[in-house]
Amino acid sequence: MHAIDKDTVHRLCSGQVIVDLATAVKELLENGLDAGATLVDIKMKDSGLTSISVSDNGQGIKEEDRISLCRKHWTSKISSFEDLEGVDTFGFRGEALSSLCAVSKVIVTTATEETAPMGVQLEYDGNGELAEITTVARERGTTVTLTGLFTRWPVRLQDLKKNIRREYLRLVGLVEQYAIISDQARITMSNQTKSGITVAVRTPPQADRMARLVAVLGAQVRPHMTQMGYRPADSAVADDDGLELLIEGNISKPIPEAGRSGSDKQYFFVNGRPCDFPKAKKLVNESFRSHCPTKYPVFAISISINATTIDVNLTPDKRTILIRHEAQLLAALKEALANVLEPQESMFSVNRVQ
Ligand code: ADP
Ligand code: MG
Repeated sequence: MHAIDKDTVHRLCSGQVIVDLATAVKELLENGLDAGATLVDIKMKDSGLTSISVSDNGQGIKEEDRISLCRKHWTSKISSFEDLEGVDTFGFRGEALSSLCAVSKVIVTTATEETAPMGVQLEYDGNGELAEITTVARERGTTVTLTGLFTRWPVRLQDLKKNIRREYLRLVGLVEQYAIISDQARITMSNQTKSGITVAVRTPPQADRMARLVAVLGAQVRPHMTQMGYRPADSAVADDDGLELLIEGNISKPIPEAGRSGSDKQYFFVNGRPCDFPKAKKLVNESFRSHCPTKYPVFAISISINATTIDVNLTPDKRTILIRHEAQLLAALKEALANVLEPQESMFSVNRVQ
């Protein structure tokens, strides 16, 4: 028996952090948002098969951080496990850039307030070590460009090529979630192919939540969306300080013209993080379909809950969140849905009868 060598461990683990096109882009987008950007622009070439470039106007990367930027578990976001409770950034594990180096070629250009309008271009090798520095002109912020995604992972590359349309659409759905929830930053995404440039996502500047929703889901949803806002009266369910629970967001009204035939535009956010929440999704769909059996709702529902009662560190993509008071949360969600779906149901049935 022997220990696996360091480089192999790095490659093996990185393949579990960056599993597909969507996770690669998501990590870069989150880094831009974590850097305090007011604009994050994602430019794809050939749906990411040729290159992916994510630019932000955030704080940039300091000179002293250039060397360690892509090293495993190097992060500016937490120092110890205890910091996790108060973490308000998307990232905290320092794994993404290091893993991206193992699965693609990574080039970073960056400038800080101090260095702009000059910056540097940094090239990293497969182990995340800084290989080359060049001086370049650039405004404050950072651009990370990935090329050759999964070239050293033939099975994944073949799969990506074969399913590129589906993978790209999945990515668009993911970016849409960040575009809806980001109230500090505009998010844009475009794709350049042989047939031209397609804009996939574009949120307007200084937009409120509804305007962002409309920008993402299309103007046709506006008249059909209804607002949810619910705070359970009994907050004495949490052990120490009480459960601070707030459910808010938008859902389409339970009328056939407002829904969709599929459940593809259904988004949950817990404490500002886009996440998968299958039990809550099932609950929302069941409630909606009991009023409107032919369609699925479109929704973007935000849940705010005491940070000390959730664990986001369950999976590398942080999309599964362990919620200590899940039962209370689901009961509150049911109540919140009843408030918006039920009064309207009687109103719509009256309308339908007329
Ligand atoms: P994490 O986000 O978990 O810290 P990453 O590997 O994604 O880990 O990034 C490592 C570090 O690199 C971050 O903690 C941050 O300090 C820096 N960084 C990455 N991307 C950017 C960016 N776009 N702007 C500024 N700093 C960045
Ligand atoms: Mg990160």
